[in-house]
Amino acid sequence: MVSLPILNRIPVSAAFGQIFPTPKRWAIGPPTTWVHRSIGHVELTGAVGLGYNQGMTHIPLYGTTHPAQTGAAREQVPKRSLLELTQEEMTDYVKSLGQPAYRARQIWDWIYKRYAADFASMTNLPAALRARLDAEATVSPLTPIAEVVSADRNTQKVLFQLPDGQSIEAVLMLYERRRTLCISSQAGCGMGCTFCATAQGGLARNLTAGEIVAQVLYFARYLATPHAPPAMEVDRPTHVTNIVLMGMGEPMHNYKNVWTALRRLTDPEAFGLGARHITLSTVGLIPMIDRMAEEGLQIGLAVSLHAPNDEIRSQLVPINRRYPVAELLAAVQRYIEKTHRRVTFEYALMRGINDSPELALELAQKLKPLLCHVNVIPLNPIPDSPYQPTSDTETRRFVQILNENGVPATVRLRRGIEINAGCGQLRRAMAA
Ligand code: SAH
Repeated sequence: MVSLPILNRIPVSAAFGQIFPTPKRWAIGPPTTWVHRSIGHVELTGAVGLGYNQGMTHIPLYGTTHPAQTGAAREQVPKRSLLELTQEEMTDYVKSLGQPAYRARQIWDWIYKRYAADFASMTNLPAALRARLDAEATVSPLTPIAEVVSADRNTQKVLFQLPDGQSIEAVLMLYERRRTLCISSQAGCGMGCTFCATAQGGLARNLTAGEIVAQVLYFARYLATPHAPPAMEVDRPTHVTNIVLMGMGEPMHNYKNVWTALRRLTDPEAFGLGARHITLSTVGLIPMIDRMAEEGLQIGLAVSLHAPNDEIRSQLVPINRRYPVAELLAAVQRYIEKTHRRVTFEYALMRGINDSPELALELAQKLKPLLCHVNVIPLNPIPDSPYQPTSDTETRRFVQILNENGVPATVRLRRGIEINAGCGQLRRAMAA
């Protein structure tokens, strides 16, 4: 399915037997469950959902700690990723291969304008150069190893393996007009939020700028491929219109690489997406919020607040002990004064924890002076966690109190719950 070259569909059990050392049985039986040789692809139909709640996710190990399991990870010396290079560095590189400088521009455009997945498709390069590049470099540093599509086909999540065997997730969401991509900034996360699936595995490492950009190029390629079978029932979009850094990791904990990637993604000479179409979500690292205010790029800022006071927030978001609510809100105020941009606060409602009308009022009082909007998110429950989502009625009441007290708030759609598209959830399910 989708844009992958291998079209032989084979039953899950047979495929995993070949790829993975310890295949496990799927709880969702054929014919709805299939996988590719190169990518575990699960198609969900009808009422079949995939999630911890249904107890149906039994996908074999994709070891974040077993890099020897796939071809990509077996390579002793990883190929040089050209996605890490600036235009100048690309020029130096092609010159070092004895090539004229204009070849750098050609390769650059193949990568960022035409989303080439390999050198073989760069048809205006001499064959010998393509072979040489192929031997020592890559433009696809991510290997897709599993993919899940929601029953309505509007949400699609891919688990990628990195060259060192780590794995990350990215999610494509199709709306009426937007095609929003949620990408990761780190393999794992070190922030330890107690309700988050990614936090449970800890931080493995920062992603490189190229690995961040590669997630976008992968989906841009998918959306632009004319012969790719449509995975969704809505009109097939052809480009990525919005990007949110709300996948795995804390983007401000990997500040330098994230901003190198953001500059590449917004550079008209490279990927060229308008900065206003990109949102960076942070747990609230105050010094980095101040730094972002100086960047001069109109990237949107979202802050994961989840509670109006330190007593509750420190339980949910441990970094709050270092950067408490009052200081965080003061930093957001500085950011707004500097950039004149509206900030989004994310607030995941957890039953009996942070969802009372009193807390809604406290939140409204603290946020009212700020140019902001609150995204109320129904909690996506994760296993081994005491937190449960708030009921729809209570959720509506919480939002209403915010609105009535002068703070614009909306409920964010539960996209991807059934496909474990919540932060870090697919990776965890895969390792279960
Ligand atoms: N580290 C960044 C971005 C990644 S998480 C941050 O903290 O903002 C993206 C958003 O998903 C954050 O608001 C995070 O708090 C939220 N989130 C994590 N786990 C969740 C869950 N189980 N249910 C609902 N939202 C969750």
